Amino acid sequence: MQSTRPRLDLSATIPGTMMDVPLTIRWIFEHNQRSHASREVVSREDDGSIFRYTYADFGARVARLANALVELGIRPGDRVASFGWNTHRHLELYYAVPMIGAVLHTTNIRLFPEQVCWVFEHAGDKAIFVDASLVPAVARALAIRPASSRQFVVMGTSQVELPGALDYEELLAAQPAEFDWPDLDERSGAILCYTSATTGDPKGVVFTHRSTVLHALAAGMADGLGVTQGDVVMPVVPMFHVNAWGVPFLIPMVGANLVLPGAKLDPSSLIELIEREGVTISLGVPTVWLAVRDELERRDLRFRTLKRLVIGGSAVPPSLFDDLEKRGVRTMHAWGMTEMSPIGTASLLTAQLAGAPWEVQRAALLKQGRFTPLVAWKILDDNGVPVPRDGKTAGALWVRGPAVTRSYFRVDEALPVFNDGYFMTGDVCTIDEFGYLQLVDRTKDLVKSGGEWISSVDLENTIMGHPAVREAAVIGVAHPKWVERPIAVVALREGQSVDEPSLQAWIGERVVKWQIPDRVVFVDAIPRTGVGKFLKRELRDRYKDLLDAAK
Ligand code: ADP
Repeated sequence: MQSTRPRLDLSATIPGTMMDVPLTIRWIFEHNQRSHASREVVSREDDGSIFRYTYADFGARVARLANALVELGIRPGDRVASFGWNTHRHLELYYAVPMIGAVLHTTNIRLFPEQVCWVFEHAGDKAIFVDASLVPAVARALAIRPASSRQFVVMGTSQVELPGALDYEELLAAQPAEFDWPDLDERSGAILCYTSATTGDPKGVVFTHRSTVLHALAAGMADGLGVTQGDVVMPVVPMFHVNAWGVPFLIPMVGANLVLPGAKLDPSSLIELIEREGVTISLGVPTVWLAVRDELERRDLRFRTLKRLVIGGSAVPPSLFDDLEKRGVRTMHAWGMTEMSPIGTASLLTAQLAGAPWEVQRAALLKQGRFTPLVAWKILDDNGVPVPRDGKTAGALWVRGPAVTRSYFRVDEALPVFNDGYFMTGDVCTIDEFGYLQLVDRTKDLVKSGGEWISSVDLENTIMGHPAVREAAVIGVAHPKWVERPIAVVALREGQSVDEPSLQAWIGERVVKWQIPDRVVFVDAIPRTGVGKFLKRELRDRYKDLLDAAK
């Protein structure tokens, strides 16, 4: 099944097989309209107020938007950019744009102005839909390079000036609430998403209709995100990056209520929204939940309805997992990447571990999890030999599947990361006998000390277990004797203190001696990428000479 050899097409030899119906986003949309019309979408507006409507209302507005897009001259294959927070309008774009055959380019709003220009141009966007609150960010980009040939549309309640831009609500109001959807090939592009440039230039990944439907089905299974119609789901993970982990398709498909937090992502606003709307499942990167955890502890709160947090994007610190457990919230650790649509694994207990002691279960749940059914994988050592399933031996992870990309948008040269029908993730992992994947590190983040590799993720998790530490990023810094040595960049919890030697001594009680960071540098905040990951490239640059004088 996983072969890359030419396929045998026997479809004509046995008549009377199944209908050949393309898997397009329209399936999700029309099922949502037929079966879940009365369930709700709740969305936070820029002014903090709450907007709410049913999926039936959503459907009517998607049709109006589709009519408006056609009137704006958008044709099949064109790219249309969004530049917005998680809102109902963004959701409407997620459906209307691909369902008319165009491609929605979900622009990362946290890119620098130069990068915004670069992605608009690289994508060849014909129209750009901008949240009113983000018009200044777009204006900064346009000041660098004006984009006269593009149509701008401003979304939202506040009045802002963007010369020549149209108003989203006026556009929709002028259109009928029905649309004659075209029949599309399931392999047509639907969504274009750029990786956030933690590694070099942003690279564009085009999700197809087919990959989007299959990803929603696979990621949503009971042993995946396990969302049901009765759930109320709040994605904090942005719709402008990695497809918000597929949630904009999965949730309307199963008919759960969808809660979109808009621009208000501070812990108090998130807690308030979770409580007010009775959110049962929320999703986001660890940074978001570290801040929420601190706020819960400060106010000694427990959630009324929240039962599960899906956390991924970077590794879940065990201390965060434990603190959330204490407050009755189960963490589901998930791993994936833009190139995989993005979900690859989710961490749930297998039957074999159901009766195991809590420490064993906890260790499994802290791993990145088990693969979803549509991801084939191999983990290879330096000689290209598969590593044993011992949970210890690490190797490079390669993946293959119908929701894994086979190339990057507008990159023509053959890249070594695509080989033999597989994609190299750039992650170094172990796999255990129960099929739990554990990410040791990103290849480029491993610290090479003497002949040994040190996992920055492991060390970070250890350091974040110290009660005074809020966050820790570990990087390798050039060392005259050992090639590289780890240093830790640490931000402390509010009102807490610890000094460098005592923190090093505390770490020394938990890791082997040669893994203790040579230096601990205290900072107010660790620099982050646009999607909340540690910006290690900047840290490496900032501290590159720190160990120069070391012997
Ligand atoms: P980028 O960070 O380059 O923008 P992605 O957002 O697609 O791109 O990130 C994918 C990468 O994030 C993975 O290859 C992996 O290194 C890291 N990652 C994702 N989830 C996890 C996780 N649960 N634990 C550790 N690392 C993770």
